[in-house]
Amino acid sequence: MSPPVFRFAPSPNGFLHLGHAYSALLNFDLARKSGGRFLLRIEDIDPIRCRPEYEDSIYEDLEWLGIVWEQPVRRQSEHLEIYRDALDRLSHEGLIYSSFESRAQSKKLVDAKDKAGVWPRDPDNGPLYPGEAKSIAAGERSAKIRSGAPYVLRLDMAAACARARNLMWIEQGAGPDGETGDVAAKPEQWGDVILARKETPTSYHLSVVIDDALQGVTQIVRGLDLFWATSVHRLLQELLGLPQPVYRHHSLVRDEDGKKLSKSTMARSAFVG
Ligand code: GLU
Repeated sequence: MSPPVFRFAPSPNGFLHLGHAYSALLNFDLARKSGGRFLLRIEDIDPIRCRPEYEDSIYEDLEWLGIVWEQPVRRQSEHLEIYRDALDRLSHEGLIYSSFESRAQSKKLVDAKDKAGVWPRDPDNGPLYPGEAKSIAAGERSAKIRSGAPYVLRLDMAAACARARNLMWIEQGAGPDGETGDVAAKPEQWGDVILARKETPTSYHLSVVIDDALQGVTQIVRGLDLFWATSVHRLLQELLGLPQPVYRHHSLVRDEDGKKLSKSTMARSAFVG
């Protein structure tokens, strides 16, 4: 039997904090104790927020923790063609559509919907896509794209869910409400998620499932904040015919106020004073 394969997959868009250190060490220890492999993957698809100095500090910090990973390290920015191909496959199956609203326009639409009743939020508390772009006529759509308008590519969630056969995943940790064992994915909670942007032919959801499959990852151990994102990942695995890893979501390291650490709120770096 082949050994289990674990991975730690940080985005170099800030310095690692204690939560990342915990997750990396947990994966590394589980791999060692089970005679498994441990991979490091750099999730650097966002050219604006990801910076080389953050990537360098990831390597330094993990070395400082005594973690050893296999070479070469996979860097997502070097594999955009692979993600584009997957996107094309979904598109040929009629599961992708372009939408053109700016952030400000989307906010206005959500505000209007909220006035008419509470507009649904996703598990991260973001509003579901409020627009009607799915029904734009083909001619108008290609004219907009030809005119150079910015756009994002969304998954037609209703069509995608109708196509998927098995949306269960095996959870070896526990979800926010203690969900464990066989968990039913609920991708519809996320609405028509963005899978790519005009300038970037991928997204976190798309590249994470493709890379986990390409790298033969069998055990995904990550923070509880990504528990319900697994729903979208299971759906994409089904649509793209990818194998099903086992998941384990661990609790988050919190600050003195009980808030989860985050790079964006300048949480104390794991390795500074
Ligand atoms: N790159 C993601 C992050 O830094 C983690 C992805 C994952 O573990 O699935 O939050």
